[in-house]
Amino acid sequence: MNRRDSDAVRLEAVRKIYGKGDSGVVALGGVTMSFPRGGFTAVMGPSGSGKSTFLHCAAGLDHPTSGSVVLDGEDLTGMNENDLTRLRRDRVGFIFQAFNLLPALTVEQNVTVPQLLAGRRPNRKHVHEVLDRVGLLDRRKHLPAELSGGQQQRVAIARAIITRPAVIFADEPTGALDTRTAAQVLGLMRESVGEQTVIMVTHDPVAASYADRVVFLADGRVVGELHAPTADAVAERMTHLGAWADRLRTTTVGGA
Ligand code: ADP
Ligand code: MG
Repeated sequence: MNRRDSDAVRLEAVRKIYGKGDSGVVALGGVTMSFPRGGFTAVMGPSGSGKSTFLHCAAGLDHPTSGSVVLDGEDLTGMNENDLTRLRRDRVGFIFQAFNLLPALTVEQNVTVPQLLAGRRPNRKHVHEVLDRVGLLDRRKHLPAELSGGQQQRVAIARAIITRPAVIFADEPTGALDTRTAAQVLGLMRESVGEQTVIMVTHDPVAASYADRVVFLADGRVVGELHAPTADAVAERMTHLGAWADRLRTTTVGGA
């Protein structure tokens, strides 16, 4: 691994086409983007702009059709499924909208699952430290069904940070939460930035305002960037993007 690499993740001319020939859909049309270590980036864009596809390619969950992805100094291009599984397990944490906790396992067991799957013995003291950090130490014996949505997402955050991954990918992490609970979850994600690099897909301008930088996607391309974003500035930009994407679609349909 190249430790001098100052980027946690780098995409170079990444294209992703679903299907083949005339029915092929260009989900990413050549995306080049860098994510510096220790940064918090939000990725935004209208529905269908390629956000999920971007996240899957950047996190090694899917192969780009062409282009390259380098994550924590490792080039994902040409890696087989075993290599990718190992890389995701050791270097990446995931937080999803739907929490994805195992219902029959306690909070503490859910948090240690990734380590157990990797054949490692979890360090109980460290597990308890992390549970304390997300405010759930006293709930460690509870089942997910006994927790609120916000508490369940905090379990998912603990599970994502426990292995100290280089990068945390979050896909709409606050999509299922109310405003106040969302703020707690985003605050926690913000706190893990520095040790971790966080990349979050969201359509919520308030959520995006917790990031250092917002990258905007439209029709599978990067169409803009905002640094030190405010929720208002993000919302304003999104309004224009929506209109821009609509116009683009109408003109292409006419010409195709
Ligand atoms: P977003 O997450 O921004 O809504 P996606 O990355 O899910 O966008 O999708 C980008 C484009 O790729 C859309 O046009 C979508 O319909 C298409 N797409 C996504 N997944 C598939 C798939 N498995 N097969 C075919 N088309 C897909
Ligand atoms: Mg999506």
